[in-house]
Amino acid sequence: MPELPEVQTVVTTLRPKVVARTIMGVRHLRADIVSPTGFGLAASITGRAVRSIDRRAKRIIFTLDDGNRFYIHLGMTGRLTVEPDTAAVEKHTHLICDLSDGAVGGIQLRFRDPRRFGGIFWLGIESDDEAALGPEPLSVKPVQLAQRLARTTRAIKNALLDQRVIAGLGNIYVDESLFLARVHPLTRSDRLSGGQVRRLNKAIKQTLRRAIRHRGSTLRDYVDADGAGGAFQLMHRVYDRADEPCVTCGMKIKRIVLGGRSTCFCPKCQKKNHG
Ligand SMILES: [Zn+2]
Repeated sequence: MPELPEVQTVVTTLRPKVVARTIMGVRHLRADIVSPTGFGLAASITGRAVRSIDRRAKRIIFTLDDGNRFYIHLGMTGRLTVEPDTAAVEKHTHLICDLSDGAVGGIQLRFRDPRRFGGIFWLGIESDDEAALGPEPLSVKPVQLAQRLARTTRAIKNALLDQRVIAGLGNIYVDESLFLARVHPLTRSDRLSGGQVRRLNKAIKQTLRRAIRHRGSTLRDYVDADGAGGAFQLMHRVYDRADEPCVTCGMKIKRIVLGGRSTCFCPKCQKKNHG
């Protein structure tokens, strides 16, 4: 599932191809992937230029030249790519926008999502839809993170997956960050020491920056706007490495199920807190 580094990579690769171009027409739209239900997306974006593309949490936010905004969420299997209009249209493609062509011929923005956990969400000009989102992990301050974690008794792994606590992390980067910070995933959030929160804050930022440099992790479906996969999956230290040796101490990586999600950690490097 695309998390912050993958979504950031999609945004970075979309920008040079899409910003300042005009959406000349919406060629294909599966209406039930648009929220709110029944919203006339095609009529609202046709003829508009894309002013900017930004990331907030795992959302890809498009701002149009009339100030209206919408975002695309990639869900589990979503792909947002820019392709020549001559490229074969793959199954499960839910949106195709013709973009004004420069010297290079017709190109299209395409959104494909076989499992349809993703979607297109209209924001308009006023709505910011921010209420459900916590701060960005790359810019959250240690004291801010400490305050948010102190408010919950949940296991730290579950708290970090909650987009209202901190927005943009998922299973891969939470497991990797907890390993780097040497924090056991079952530690109660409100019982983390000051030192542990500081280490965690640093570990989250380091892990995400490193993943962004390597263009994210491709496990199955994820590709950037150019259709290229990431390379960070080769650098995972605990995620999906159950029973393999810890890169630090050689101990077998353990896998548990927590809140319905697979969780991998090193029982030696990530000791449980006492008391
Ligand atoms: Zn270890």
